Amino acid sequence: MPDGPPDARTGDGLPTATIMLKPKRARPFFGRHPWVLDSAVLRVDGEPADGDVVDLATHDGTFVARGLWNASSRLRVRLYAFDPATRLDDAFWQTRIASAVALRTTLGLDDRAAAARLVNSEGDDLSGLIVDRYGEYLAVQVTALAMACRLEAICDSLESLVSPRGILLRGAERGLAKLEGLHLADRLVRGTAPDGPVFVHEHGLKFGVDLAEGQKTGYYLDQRDNRQAVAAAARGRRVLDMFCYSGGFSLACAKAGARSVLAVDSSAKATALAKANAGLNGAASVSVETADAFEKLDSLTAAGERFGMVILDPPKFARSRASLDDALRAYHRINRVAVGLLDPGGILVSCSCSGSVSREDFLQMLSGVSQRSGRSIQLLECRGAAADHPVSASCLEGEYLKCVIARVA
Ligand code: SAH
Repeated sequence: MPDGPPDARTGDGLPTATIMLKPKRARPFFGRHPWVLDSAVLRVDGEPADGDVVDLATHDGTFVARGLWNASSRLRVRLYAFDPATRLDDAFWQTRIASAVALRTTLGLDDRAAAARLVNSEGDDLSGLIVDRYGEYLAVQVTALAMACRLEAICDSLESLVSPRGILLRGAERGLAKLEGLHLADRLVRGTAPDGPVFVHEHGLKFGVDLAEGQKTGYYLDQRDNRQAVAAAARGRRVLDMFCYSGGFSLACAKAGARSVLAVDSSAKATALAKANAGLNGAASVSVETADAFEKLDSLTAAGERFGMVILDPPKFARSRASLDDALRAYHRINRVAVGLLDPGGILVSCSCSGSVSREDFLQMLSGVSQRSGRSIQLLECRGAAADHPVSASCLEGEYLKCVIARVA
């Protein structure tokens, strides 16, 4: 299997074909939505290769947008420009990436000792590209074949804009990669690789990040500000951090003066990271356990344990709309048990990173938990991902993270 697609042969950034839409299917794209599904395509004029620049037009030939073609994906065209004068050449990608990097500077997230998401796919009008900075290193995650074809140009831009010590390529989630026909192996693409964990600062704490093998690109950057918001309520409390990964919430709570923190994750790799991070920050009040969350929640309940704060940050329960009901049942179940573990006046922090579970569905789920448990739940904050994970108003599918902070009577 080749290590990746060939570099695109689209030097001038001009289209090699025109993709005609079925009648009445152009509206979302006049509205700048970037995803053209196969079901919207009427006809292809030309013979584009995967990764080529193509124009999108209405059935009668009116220009709609310019994007990149992938015949192997249900997502046939990803759109990047809505003006026929725009060429999707190397200079174009450089400008888009520069704009994304400039936003992080505006947000004050350009500290070279910290970590930040520099490019957030559709949220930065760069569908299929994610770039995370961890100190002096970059982790690039490509979720679109067309972006994989432009990897060299993307790395050139990143090098000129942020001069990293190394750029590592991290594969997309297996399911996503298959949908796109992507065969990218994790590898070092530029510079040197770190010879161990990369240490980054976050709100006064230090975290070791495993860039080569960690989950996502190594760390859950999207929860950065939620950790701080949650920690503000943790002082003096006994905290349960369920699905702790490398200990982000746990350490933030310990630093804010939690009485004690129990951090649990089913992955031994994750708990090893959490232990190492607790040690790194001298957080003696944090204990870490490798266990299945569902079992652990039940055994804590059976043992009559009580907490002043329970944090639930599970992995994606809903992979698609079809599994929505199952996912909502699973959220209900863990939240119900968590509420049972809370002292009166305890704080529930309940997160969901399933994009297909809407904010409203999630709050309804909590309403159901309140009803079934007979406990009042006061919603204090309904938060989302940190600002370096912007969402495009034209592609609200990019809004996935919910983090509810609530007091339970
Ligand atoms: N709160 C973390 C991110 C959590 S991601 C942070 O702030 O960094 C979700 C975590 O759930 C992953 O670390 C994964 O290993 C863990 N996980 C998945 N299934 C689990 C299960 N059944 N029980 C416990 N942990 C689980």
